[in-house]
Amino acid sequence: MPHIHRLPDLLVNQIAAGEVVERPASVLKEVLENAVDAGARAIEVQLEQGGVRRIRVTDDGCGIDREELALALERHATSKIASLDDLERVGTMGFRGEALAAIAAVARTTITSRAEAATHAWRIDGSDRSIAPAALNQGTVVEVADLYFNTPARRKFLKTEATEYAHCDDVFRRVALARPDISLQLAHNGRVTHRLPPSPAAQRVAALMGDDFVAQARQVEADAGPLRLAGFASLPAYSRSSRDAQFFFVNGRFVRDKLLTHAVREAYADILHGSRHPAYVLFLELDPAGVDVNVHPAKIEVRFREARAVHQFIYHALKRTLAESGANRIEPDAS
Ligand code: ADP
Ligand code: MG
Repeated sequence: MPHIHRLPDLLVNQIAAGEVVERPASVLKEVLENAVDAGARAIEVQLEQGGVRRIRVTDDGCGIDREELALALERHATSKIASLDDLERVGTMGFRGEALAAIAAVARTTITSRAEAATHAWRIDGSDRSIAPAALNQGTVVEVADLYFNTPARRKFLKTEATEYAHCDDVFRRVALARPDISLQLAHNGRVTHRLPPSPAAQRVAALMGDDFVAQARQVEADAGPLRLAGFASLPAYSRSSRDAQFFFVNGRFVRDKLLTHAVREAYADILHGSRHPAYVLFLELDPAGVDVNVHPAKIEVRFREARAVHQFIYHALKRTLAESGANRIEPDAS
């Protein structure tokens, strides 16, 4: 009989990385969300080779104390929740305390950070957890280099630089749509690809979705007490042949959810042919206690406590908006 033994921390984190760190874009998502949670007003992303060679995210958020730098890289260590009660009404993007530990287990990771009250910054090296003084204004720089350098089996699943960059671009756009109040910049191989100043929501949507979309979309505004829906939904004339322009956010979190997609689809049923897809950027806000975000490590799936009510609300809100616009059915060949 083989003996049962505890796995070493590094291996535990590498196993967890299988769920959390699918590709460079998943690293970018986690690190960007941490910057958002830190209250950053400005975030700068630099990518090299689709993020495989390097991802560097600089924020001007609250920073991390020297005493807590090592904890930031520990599995199940978080500043965001402390109890089950907190978990059930979590308002931050993160709460599982596992992303940085997983990332540091499969890439060369350093965190440089200066907390508000600190006189200077400190840098921790994820490979040996050594800490040394560093220079930085307030905030944090997370640098993740050579993804999967120590896990060649996973490296094989990486796609071309262009594909990995495209996934990073998607992640960046989602955060940028959700947080028009934050200044965001993205650069790839030294070339700036997005420069987004803080702006009103409509302007941010136009910058990312195109002026055409905004011109051919209706503004959605619905409030039913505990449920609120805002955003933009395209008129049938702007329909697409793919679902590439559909963004649904629940309490600021980009999600892919069958229930939400279905409610939207139903609202368009009378005016859009089945092979065409609407374009939309929609933000649903509700009491965090009414939605479970702890379904999957990447938190892209959610579960609603009152699923039926949510479906009805979205369906009617969109239906009403589209009806007010006098949208007529557009056949597939007419667009
Ligand atoms: P989680 O976000 O779920 O808490 P992470 O592993 O992503 O877990 O991060 C661990 C902790 O490190 C966070 O709870 C936070 O306290 C700290 N942290 C990570 N990134 C930043 C950042 N950019 N600015 C300030 N603190 C950060
Ligand atoms: Mg996090």
